[in-house]
Amino acid sequence: MTKKQHRRTSPGLRFTAVLAALAVTIGSTLLTWVARTSDDPEDRAGPAKAPDMSTIGDREIADEQRTADWLAYGRTHSERRFSPLNDIRRGTVNRLGVAWYLDLPDDVGLVSTPLVVDGVLYFTGTMNVVRAVNATSGELIWSYDPDVAGHVGTKRQVGWVHSRGISFYRGKIFAATWDGRLFALDAKTGRLRWTVRTFEEGKPLYITGAPKAFKGKVLIGNGGTEVGRARGSVTAFDADTGRTAWTFHIVPGNPADGFENEAMAMAAQTWTGRWWEHGGGGNAWHGMTYDPELDTVYIGTGNGAPWNRRLRSPDGGDNLFLSSIVALDPDTGGYRWHYQTSPGDTWDYTSTMDIVLADLEVDGHPIKAILHAPKNGFFYVIDRVTGRLVSAKPFSRVTWATHVDPVSGRPVETPNARYPDGEANIWPSAHGAHSWQAMSYNPTTGLVYLPTMNMGGRYVDTGLDTSWRAEDFVGGTGVGLFEILLSKELSPGLLQAWDPVRQEAVWTVPQKHPWNGGTLATPELVFQGRYDGTFYAHDASTGEARWSYDLGLGISAPPITYKLGGKQYVALLVGYGGGYTVGFTPGLPNEGWAYGVHRRRLVAFALDGEVTLPPQPPPSLPRPLVVPSFQVDPELAARGRRIYGTFCAICHGGQAVANAMAPDLRASGVPVDFGAFAAVVRGGTRVGRGMPAFAHLADAQLNAVRHYIRATAHDHAESGP
Ligand code: CA
Repeated sequence: MTKKQHRRTSPGLRFTAVLAALAVTIGSTLLTWVARTSDDPEDRAGPAKAPDMSTIGDREIADEQRTADWLAYGRTHSERRFSPLNDIRRGTVNRLGVAWYLDLPDDVGLVSTPLVVDGVLYFTGTMNVVRAVNATSGELIWSYDPDVAGHVGTKRQVGWVHSRGISFYRGKIFAATWDGRLFALDAKTGRLRWTVRTFEEGKPLYITGAPKAFKGKVLIGNGGTEVGRARGSVTAFDADTGRTAWTFHIVPGNPADGFENEAMAMAAQTWTGRWWEHGGGGNAWHGMTYDPELDTVYIGTGNGAPWNRRLRSPDGGDNLFLSSIVALDPDTGGYRWHYQTSPGDTWDYTSTMDIVLADLEVDGHPIKAILHAPKNGFFYVIDRVTGRLVSAKPFSRVTWATHVDPVSGRPVETPNARYPDGEANIWPSAHGAHSWQAMSYNPTTGLVYLPTMNMGGRYVDTGLDTSWRAEDFVGGTGVGLFEILLSKELSPGLLQAWDPVRQEAVWTVPQKHPWNGGTLATPELVFQGRYDGTFYAHDASTGEARWSYDLGLGISAPPITYKLGGKQYVALLVGYGGGYTVGFTPGLPNEGWAYGVHRRRLVAFALDGEVTLPPQPPPSLPRPLVVPSFQVDPELAARGRRIYGTFCAICHGGQAVANAMAPDLRASGVPVDFGAFAAVVRGGTRVGRGMPAFAHLADAQLNAVRHYIRATAHDHAESGP
């Protein structure tokens, strides 16, 4: 496609770029190791009792019965997000009330999973700020700000407000920054122990995922497949020192440079053309699981860069290890096996979603299984000893493949799946039938509780320009005019209880919007926060809503549970976030969670909790400012529209219609005045709030964008978006 066509991509495409931003990559160059001593003035008070947290490691993280804590992203190494705690159950959940809360006035998108270690709750918020609070009172113990604005301020990077989580291992909290640093904090004091860069500064890569700590190492990947020539990789660092232990590249580089290992030589056989000039992608930005039983680490890998295989690998090929689960040796990063969910990906069918470990019985045989529900709409059960497919069935509308062949383990594609005529409507959309919103697995009901999205996408690549190359930090996928399709017969969102053995839904709860939070499972209940701000407890067996609470702001983060002082708590972050918070998607309902209007919070519930939350403002839709004195120049506005689409829409929304992640510029006075606009956009006066500085934009370009924003505001004030 031509560059011009690329710039006409719809907001939907750009949202996906932000989803990718919820991801990270590691550069191929040598990573620098920087040891720093903390200059924090003092140790803050830790938890009341102070046992030796340095002894809490893999054995404790693997212990499914350890209910006082929530030690890892998915609670334990199994990533099941199931707790055996049952004080809050079917018969008592109606007594659930707020036990404590912490207001987070400076936060925007909150999508992360907190951890609880020995009475302290740890979480990461906007701009990668890590906090420790008393898990029974919400009182702040320490806070660590990695100064993301100071590291990224002058680079054209976007979506940096989000982070999905942190990691704990032997007394340290590990977290990563949008700009690619990984750091370790003393869990008691919040003092910095070490920090490393995980990819070369200035590379168009991002980290929004949680590091994975196991066996004395911390593993991290990255995202970036939609915003430059990305080559995905993951790197493990020594948990004590931050020194690099190993790197695994997900796709092969230029054969002329030699391959890093046999796995890359094997993978290169499945690529064609000059893929390395595009990076190739595969970035592992989310799901990574350590399996202590088999002593293996599983990496979920991302889509191709660019999306369109005709550009990336023009003569076809599976393009290993895109859209796969790759099993690695945890000590060396050596390849063990892979299972590819979308061979030759050309749809953004990322396979970075949760990798959950479960022991199943299938046809009378015990299976050490991986449960996996990637974007492509099939629910996979994989034998994690061999990497072979056990079964796969669609859990949403799927039109790109009829089924997965049980013998070969490969999908059987439909004739139009690769948009051979230049355009096609394909289900699921590039947002996926399931994204990073956590699923949970309850071994007592045998069910997976799966946040599901029913959306299709329109893929168009007519007039493909094969010389097209991605530009750094500019959204580009090689597929144009991406738009979201909804069906009248299908609910856009579903909470599904999925039986992984029979491969069918046991119950479903329809939801009017697809973008809901992840789930938490307890023996009798499933907890999930929704787009509309309501936090639900459903009956684990029937799906019936047993309890709900209106938190007054869209929820995207998954809840956790723990028990301290004889009391079971359920806690979650409230702060609508992720790909949909960028701009409104036409046709989808809008709840009015506008930027800067609703208070972001951490809220903990317990039985007989009696705390009253301060009320939230009602939902609010920004009203475009009418400024009759601003004379719009239509020619300038048309030019500004293109610049806006390239640099601004990814956060401020398509057609200047913003959502929760950034201010709605139609309603802002800043673009009315050139000086004020230049100070913010070029001068970076709001870098600390997450607005990057676009230092390269000339006066004429800034002015054109102003005219586009004002023209749109006037149009929308008269006739709506
Ligand atoms: Ca992607």
